[in-house]
Amino acid sequence: MITRLSKLFVRTLREDPADAEVASHRWLVRAGYIRRAAPGIYSWLPLGLKVLAKVERIVREEMDAIGAQEVRFPALLPREPYEATNRWTEYGPNLFRLQDRKGGDYLLGPTHEEMFTLLVKDLYSSYKDLPLSLYQIQTKYRDESRPRAGILRGREFVMKDSYSFDIDEAGLDASYRAHRNAYITIMNRLGLEFVIVKATSGAMGGSASEEFLAIAESGEDTFVRSPGGYAANVEAVRRPLAEAQDAAGVPAAHVEDTPDSPTIESLVALSNARFPRADRPWQASDTLKNVLFMLRNPDGSRTPLAIGLPGDREVDMKRLEAAVHPAEVEPFAEADFEAHPGLVKGYIGPAALGVGEVEGDEPPIGTVRYLTDPAVVAGTRWITGANQAGHHVYDLVCERDFHSDGVLDVAEIRAGDPAPDGSGPLSLARGIEMGHIFQLGRKFADALGLKVLNEHGKLVTVTMGSYGVGVSRAVAAVAEATSDERGLCWPRELAPFDVQVLATGKDAAVLDYAEKLAMELSAAGLEVLLDDRKASPGVKFTDAEVLGMPTTVVVGRGLAEGLVEVRDRASGERTEWQADGAAEQLVALLCP
Ligand code: ATP
Ligand code: MG
Repeated sequence: MITRLSKLFVRTLREDPADAEVASHRWLVRAGYIRRAAPGIYSWLPLGLKVLAKVERIVREEMDAIGAQEVRFPALLPREPYEATNRWTEYGPNLFRLQDRKGGDYLLGPTHEEMFTLLVKDLYSSYKDLPLSLYQIQTKYRDESRPRAGILRGREFVMKDSYSFDIDEAGLDASYRAHRNAYITIMNRLGLEFVIVKATSGAMGGSASEEFLAIAESGEDTFVRSPGGYAANVEAVRRPLAEAQDAAGVPAAHVEDTPDSPTIESLVALSNARFPRADRPWQASDTLKNVLFMLRNPDGSRTPLAIGLPGDREVDMKRLEAAVHPAEVEPFAEADFEAHPGLVKGYIGPAALGVGEVEGDEPPIGTVRYLTDPAVVAGTRWITGANQAGHHVYDLVCERDFHSDGVLDVAEIRAGDPAPDGSGPLSLARGIEMGHIFQLGRKFADALGLKVLNEHGKLVTVTMGSYGVGVSRAVAAVAEATSDERGLCWPRELAPFDVQVLATGKDAAVLDYAEKLAMELSAAGLEVLLDDRKASPGVKFTDAEVLGMPTTVVVGRGLAEGLVEVRDRASGERTEWQADGAAEQLVALLCP
């Protein structure tokens, strides 16, 4: 069977979609693979659906290969299991919640740990039933705050999620390793350049977790690597505490008039001019900057948070968001300052912060929890705000003159920073999160009561892993990695068609030959798209490049001399072939 472009449901567009920030989004829409239905919600057209199915096939084959069994849960789920694990609340505004006609609460599944746990609990009761791995390829729903880049971050998307069930840690380790290896194979088959990095576990909880990132400039995740093999998402980097200092020689803290010094730069300049240091000039890292945020908790309540960090570093918002999850980060607004009159904007110092020793659950009203960077340790000496407009305090020593409520490591990581494990200086790059594997442990099994009898007849809680791959995201990530300024450019394993046969001109002999060639290729098992439209050669060439099949055969004027042209989309290479025997030659080339 061949597909005729004259009949295919596709329209290529000459214009970029207005909201296209990245190449994959632009070309998937322009080439007629996907179409936006609502923000972060896309329809799949015939060409797109074929690529999606090919990604699914790769993922399915590799899951089956490690003995995982496919099931499919509903996307529409009851509230109760998610209530039992507290995720009904914890997921906050990211969860699509809805009600049925009787007023019963439901949700559209963002991930399915609860359902898998309950299913296994329903049916299994003995260690003899384990180990078990189940998976599904299914549509997920998350009301993302920043849907972006087309299907790269959708509010509806397709995920492969699997779950492993084991009797003990050794079993979990083995299941985790099997998945890790399967994911490596999947990434390789997708043709993606990728890294495996340490990750935070987000809404899943649990312990060990790693992410598979496709290396891409346009990715939303930043990761670090060291020459010695350390690799982590910046969200998961934990810098060690600095070494405590001996502050015996540091003079008593003193407040100074520091007019016109609202920025760190101006403060450092003024300090060097007016209060020079004997041993060396002041620098930005001698200042302690205190930054305020509001945390919105999943139950809707808001908690202020102050972060103290050296003035030469900014707070990395993604690191902060990951660290305070499931709370969300909001700016500290004008109204919040009004509610905390002790905080003088631009001159906030530790004296106005901190909740101190708390009796009972709640810190006193008006206090602000104060967490400091790992560089802020006992004996370190700082210039910082004096809680008075135009004033700073000098020689303020940590633990001598002020205390924080704890450590929070959310400062930006910079190229050249030491790796936390001592394996050398870090370099930074960006990536797209393609997959995430977790050792969940017993969190979900505990919450939902998944126990089985062990070999001694004792009830024990099952230990679980959870593993996700972004199937629809993979379509975009591959497009991102392979497209160029002329359009999509699929690797053979994912292309909707192996070959596009393109007939130019009105010559009946040309059309006949193209038709015959397409038939022969198809009969040999290749997927063939025949451009039989009554369009100009220019339009056909441009469309072929936009649509991105790996090989195009151009049948045109040359046929009179017995020649056709074969174009390789990726390399741009064009070669003349004898029309006679071209089909056999192509089949030999493309069907190894
Ligand atoms: P992200 O950090 O990108 O929001 P996540 O950590 O929330 O992702 P997981 O819960 O680990 O995602 O989901 C497993 C996989 O599902 C991810 O690795 C990613 O490939 C995919 N995925 C997650 N969210 C989306 C989305 N909004 N659109 C498309 N794919 C997604
Ligand atoms: Mg993740």
